[in-house]
Amino acid sequence: MNIHLDGIHRIFEGAAAVNGVTLDIGSGKLVALLGPSGSGKTTILRMVAGLDFPDKGSIRFGEEDATNIPVAKRGVGFVFQHYALFPHMTLAENIAFGMEALKPRRSKAEIAARVEELLGLVRLPGLGRRFPAQISGGQRQRVALARALAVEPRVLLLDEPFGALDAAVRRDLRRWLREIHDDLGITTIFVTHDQEEALDLADEVVILSEGRIVQSGTPREVTRRPGSAFVLNFLGDANRLPVEIRGGGAFLGPLNLAAPGLADGPAALYARPRDIAWSGPLDPNGLPARIERILDRPDSRRLVVLAATGETVELDATPDDESRPGDAGSIRLHRWQIFKD
Ligand code: ADP
Ligand code: MG
Repeated sequence: MNIHLDGIHRIFEGAAAVNGVTLDIGSGKLVALLGPSGSGKTTILRMVAGLDFPDKGSIRFGEEDATNIPVAKRGVGFVFQHYALFPHMTLAENIAFGMEALKPRRSKAEIAARVEELLGLVRLPGLGRRFPAQISGGQRQRVALARALAVEPRVLLLDEPFGALDAAVRRDLRRWLREIHDDLGITTIFVTHDQEEALDLADEVVILSEGRIVQSGTPREVTRRPGSAFVLNFLGDANRLPVEIRGGGAFLGPLNLAAPGLADGPAALYARPRDIAWSGPLDPNGLPARIERILDRPDSRRLVVLAATGETVELDATPDDESRPGDAGSIRLHRWQIFKD
């Protein structure tokens, strides 16, 4: 089932929480809505679910206008971070809960068989008689997904479903969710403020800021070609260096870097730590710098250097790098992007 949002707005107390969002989600895709807290992700998801309604614009499910269809008739399954399981019911009863209302009515035996099948799908076979308090947080979110799938939804909506879990469990669940999605092929919208989660999981990432889409594309597209300083910064660590544009060049200390198409005047150059290298003191293509601090990490050494232009710059060297604090050298930029402020 493909979903089309056409210019949806949602106003709360005079302010737009969602401010004209137009988006196409292809059938069977897993799309992540990614943005900082307050950017409108949950409000969009609630409108797709039918838990809230746009003030302007429309929502289509396939050929059907779903804008005003109430949640019970919309055929969506959802998992929210705080949409807890019923604690007094077993896992099997939790999963079966929504199935009792399905039409045509399912027999008890059909429901029991389907619950077992769903427990197997979420990799918790045979645990139906346990209660939520007897399983881990990660397992509870898997049961919540089984419950969402039990009603045979046309669309699956997940709002920061792993937000309350610790990092290692979150990473496992990410892979697990992607596998389940690939098995079932159900159109899924996944909301998160965690870039790594969105990039790992989604076919397409939609980046939101202040109720608007600022960029969307595959993980590769948005990471390799961020269209603004906001997106570039939001997707990962970046150094910001003030530069002066003159005649298609960006002047940074002694360096003149190609900056075709940019108007003369001040601008900001952004470079990620991995895209900067440490080299010798007399590198003619480098900017002189001195190492202030070194942060050793499992897969790299983060050098924190003071550049001759006065900026502190962070760059990543390989784990076998032998530099020491106090060393003089140069930084060399391998990849960067320049935006006018
Ligand atoms: P996100 O999920 O990206 O953190 P939300 O969609 O929850 O963002 O919220 C977007 C904006 O709308 C925020 O400024 C929030 O305070 C506001 N907002 C959300 N729901 C309501 C509501 N029911 N009443 C008033 N303001 C709301
Ligand atoms: Mg939210």
